[in-house]
Amino acid sequence: MGTGQGKSDRLLVAVILFGAGWLAYKLNSRPSLAPYADLVLPPSDRKFTGLRVAFLGVSTLLVDDGETAILTDGFFTRPNRRKLLIGKVEPDRALIAKSLERSGIKHLAAVIVTHSHYDHAMDSPEVAKLTGALVVGSGSTANIARGWGLTEDHIRMVRDGESVSFGRFRVTLISSQHAPTVFTGGEIREPLVPPVRANHYQEGGIFSVLIEHDEKTLLIQSSAGFVEAALSGRRADVAFLAVGGLGRQDDVFQHAYWREIVKTVGARRIIPIHWDDFTLPLEQPLVPIPFPFDNFAKSMAFVLDRGRQDGVDVKFAPTWTKIDPFVGL
Ligand SMILES: [Zn+2]
Repeated sequence: MGTGQGKSDRLLVAVILFGAGWLAYKLNSRPSLAPYADLVLPPSDRKFTGLRVAFLGVSTLLVDDGETAILTDGFFTRPNRRKLLIGKVEPDRALIAKSLERSGIKHLAAVIVTHSHYDHAMDSPEVAKLTGALVVGSGSTANIARGWGLTEDHIRMVRDGESVSFGRFRVTLISSQHAPTVFTGGEIREPLVPPVRANHYQEGGIFSVLIEHDEKTLLIQSSAGFVEAALSGRRADVAFLAVGGLGRQDDVFQHAYWREIVKTVGARRIIPIHWDDFTLPLEQPLVPIPFPFDNFAKSMAFVLDRGRQDGVDVKFAPTWTKIDPFVGL
């Protein structure tokens, strides 16, 4: 009996050690970006005066026409895994200021917050403080802004289908759905004062963001989910498309996501977003979200294949650099 028990204990320990070692190996063996190097859009010409976009990780996108600039989400702090698992998170003021400077952002008309998870909304009120922007988003986002001391005149709560204009931009927020994860749902019902556990940044509903500018239209989909027919009747030339978590979904979900977002708006190009591991700093070259949280290669195989079938161009946006998202279309 005694030796039998000892043997099975040793076996259990061996299995646990093997499992932990395998997980650590997988977490650190990053999916490669090399196969997609040819898909990266070039920096826009210095003399180019049209609409330009800079990708700043996750679904933080600067959209600038030279007169007016708006930003989606505005997440720069990117707390590390330890802070997410056992610590608390809060906006890093110095890092946000430094990131805005590196992006060339001085004044922003608005920070459009797509949902209230920390990796989208946490830094938005600090960005607003530094740039004079209006924080636009859900009731939960408004409570994140209040918790950071923003006054009501710098907060604009919007409902499904509402449009707000900034310069020549018309921004419409349309209710959508989060990618299926355990963190989906919930609301922030009172001002949220960080530092707090990351999961206190409850989702608060998702918005697809439609940006119309003169003749050009962009859609920003910050999470790989959808509401059936929510975008019918809307048009967008280019869709910035969240692929985070898409590779973990089955074929039926992936095709439905493509149909409800890309096909419905008639996008001729998609630019994947929310693929980067946001527990790592933005200063380092971005790397995809590792296993077991995602399957980046599978997400990319799907969008490239569907893109080929439907004649939809797939491109990547470089980090920090302004591009013309419509170039060559
Ligand atoms: Zn989210």
